[in-house]
Amino acid sequence: MRGPQWLDDGMPHIWLPYTQMQTVLPPLPAVRTSGCDIHLADGRVLTDGIASWWTACHGYNHPHIREAVSAQLARMPHVMFGGLVHEPALTLATRLAAILPGDLERVFFTDSGSVAVEVAIKIAIQYWINRGVSGRNRLVAFRGGYHGDTLATMAVCDPEEGMHALFSGVLPQHYIVDLPRDEASLAALETLLSESGDEIAAILVEPLIQGAGGMLFHGPDVLQRLRTLADRYGVLLILDEIFTGFGRTGTMFACEQAGIVPDIMTLSKALTAGTMPLAATVTRSHVFAAFLSDNPLHALMHGPTFMANPLACACANASLDLFAAEPRLQQVAQISAQMTDELAACRNLPHVRDVRVMGAVGVVELDAIADMNRLKAALVALGVWVRPFRTIIYLTPAFTIHPDELSRLTSAITQVIRDGAAG
Ligand SMILES: *Cc1c(COP(=O)(O)O)cnc(C)c1O
Repeated sequence: MRGPQWLDDGMPHIWLPYTQMQTVLPPLPAVRTSGCDIHLADGRVLTDGIASWWTACHGYNHPHIREAVSAQLARMPHVMFGGLVHEPALTLATRLAAILPGDLERVFFTDSGSVAVEVAIKIAIQYWINRGVSGRNRLVAFRGGYHGDTLATMAVCDPEEGMHALFSGVLPQHYIVDLPRDEASLAALETLLSESGDEIAAILVEPLIQGAGGMLFHGPDVLQRLRTLADRYGVLLILDEIFTGFGRTGTMFACEQAGIVPDIMTLSKALTAGTMPLAATVTRSHVFAAFLSDNPLHALMHGPTFMANPLACACANASLDLFAAEPRLQQVAQISAQMTDELAACRNLPHVRDVRVMGAVGVVELDAIADMNRLKAALVALGVWVRPFRTIIYLTPAFTIHPDELSRLTSAITQVIRDGAAG
């Protein structure tokens, strides 16, 4: 079957993400989306199980978001944010401050998750410099963590995980340790903080679910311990809610389940419901206060060209309208129950090591995936779009998914494992 002309013309010129281009199988040409459907150029329609890296939380092409973007497009697609401000960004900042816990109320916009984490790191380090404390320029982050692909964020990802190992020589050295899940790991972290606390600017963690590092879950008690330790040793706590924010774990933000407030939070992914690139670094008032000064060097010197893009902010505002008007968290609970029920069938299949569900995240972990390409092809042949990685097959569907569509996804996963495509 021949693809469209633009595919043949363009493939020699495009460089794809996370891909060995010498052996890449032809990617699937997508031409249209709607709801949980991805339409391919040859007419096939795939049911989407992962909502484009878990961004499209209301499904694709939601009319309310489309209308908000069209209206903003006609009015003002973009204007620089240096010296100028606009309603979509200020309204969005006001609304985020209102729904975020505690006094997380000062919002710095960027255009990707990695950059939001970079800004959080800069803020954490400069917070100490501005307060006249020197030498606090390292972070504590965790095995299994993922915070982005840029240079500063690679340095706080799990170093063993492989994706960034080539660069280890040029990355700044931080402390990457085990999450304090038990007595031993808690004691080790406490020792690190008591011995090296004066080098540490902040603790950085993805709350409840470490996403791209393997969809690993931990309990709210782990976050409570981190908050306690951060307070005890006087370091900042940064929560990277880029994966977990906006309902994915069952509450609007994962930290709500632990009843804690971080000093800095990063948001992106579902912030615009997957329609436009946008990210935010949000700080509590005491963090922001450290940047208020007569000294011009105490300002935050950061400003992406497209920061606070009005179209992206309009998407995010429209997405928050939908969270307010429609029962999204109830839908997440229903998805959670249905995935728990239906993925349980995988538990007794060969090579299945674990099945776990939290909020609208369902994971089947295998011993190993022998032939990833064969597995991916088998899933597409069953009419679903699911992207296994390393040893896991996961679902992060739109919250608006219909139960029948979700069943199609869970049965496709069960079937490929039963047929041995994963083994
Ligand atoms: C995706 C992700 C990032 C990076 O976001 P990009 O927009 O891809 O740069 C950072 N942290 C977490 C937890 C993520 O899931």
